[in-house]
Amino acid sequence: MRFVVALLGCLLMASWACAQERAVATYGSLRVERNRIVGMEGEPAIVRGMSLYWSQWKGQFYNPDCVKWLRDDWNCGVVRASMAVGAGGYLNDPEREKEKVKAVVQAAIDLGMYVIIDWHDHNAHQHLEQAQAFFEEMAQTYGQHPNVIYETWNEPLNTHDWSTVIKPYHEAVIPKIRARDSDNLIVCGTQTWSQDVDKAAQDPIAGDNIAYALHFYASTHKQPLRDKAKAALEKGVALMVTEWGASEASGNGTLDREETQKWIHFMNENELSWCNWSVADLAETSAALKPGASTKGGWSADVISPSGLLVRQELRKYREPDILYVPTPMVVVDKMLELAQVKEDDLLYDLGCGDGRIVVEAAKRYGCRAVGYDINPVRVQEARENVAENNVGHLVRIEHQDVFTLDLSDADVITLYLLPSLNVKLIPQLEQLKPGARIVSHDFDMRGVIPDEVVNMNGHTVYLWTTPLKKEGSN
Ligand code: MG
Repeated sequence: MRFVVALLGCLLMASWACAQERAVATYGSLRVERNRIVGMEGEPAIVRGMSLYWSQWKGQFYNPDCVKWLRDDWNCGVVRASMAVGAGGYLNDPEREKEKVKAVVQAAIDLGMYVIIDWHDHNAHQHLEQAQAFFEEMAQTYGQHPNVIYETWNEPLNTHDWSTVIKPYHEAVIPKIRARDSDNLIVCGTQTWSQDVDKAAQDPIAGDNIAYALHFYASTHKQPLRDKAKAALEKGVALMVTEWGASEASGNGTLDREETQKWIHFMNENELSWCNWSVADLAETSAALKPGASTKGGWSADVISPSGLLVRQELRKYREPDILYVPTPMVVVDKMLELAQVKEDDLLYDLGCGDGRIVVEAAKRYGCRAVGYDINPVRVQEARENVAENNVGHLVRIEHQDVFTLDLSDADVITLYLLPSLNVKLIPQLEQLKPGARIVSHDFDMRGVIPDEVVNMNGHTVYLWTTPLKKEGSN
């Protein structure tokens, strides 16, 4: 049994690397059908990822290692190359900025990710000829790849009128793309820094596979902008959130977690794809990295900003599970809770909670508070139903999360039924627990950490550790 579970786990681990190459393999060529962006089977295609920062200021992040890390560790299915036009960008040195974009586009194609080629400009109508030449070249070079998405004007100002300035600009650029690439998705920026999607919906651009950009910054833009987006969708246009931040509209200021969750709910409900702003190591709220972070990925939690941690946690929820779910027999559940000496005032986290049996049992038997975490939305649903059936909703919460993104510092008890390698991977998080916290694991040890107790029962093993963890080879 244990061997079988471990073996399946290894197979799944092996397939995990492939899973993250699946964004383009899953959806293929994106197209617009009514008010949705869909994949090759006509199914809603929801791709999530990160936007790089202005290319002329943070071009050092426009490299394949960075893009690969965003795929493998952040679970990004899309990356956005925000090619600066003014402010020392493309207008100053077209070849230099274009090379940065090409590095990102090629990396995304090699890695099976979508990539947005973004003309990052507020006054694109003043640079029409340059935009036409640029997009014609991009379409000619990359138009045969389903990976590529064109974003022809990032954020028109509020003073540029949709029908008389912005729409005619898009209508002048789109034919240059379509002459070389008949089908790839084109996302058109909208009035007022890509907020007035309702105006675009009232006067849409003719043609296939055209969507509109919706941008929001959660501390500034709230329900009224969601209402506007909803109105546009109801008018029948497709939207893509090519840029959003958890900060104020400036990119800096307050990080609004509550409003960000409302927006994430809204995007999920309306099947909207998104890129978060931004991959940059800056002392500003929306930057995902702290100053000095490597430009090539490999970022540990201590170089990721609060915004970056929030967004990474959200992105990683949608990755493939590491293991198949195997329920722990109730007799073993009881032994785990007994060994952990669970008390009424404890807070218990079950990492990989499956149907919620451990958190429900802990609440019923000991009256403690408990949170069950699982990456599989089907399990999350089952666990919530289990909580409701057993009337322990006042004590127990179930969350859809990747357990490797959790802050465990509030927990008194942790319960596990993962794999030895995954237990080891959790050590840095377990080391954040307060002294005297208890960790119990069904069947699997934690290499390098000495258990306080090991109990064998009915062919199962239960391990107990208490914090601070006792490492082998240390005194
Ligand atoms: Mg094409």
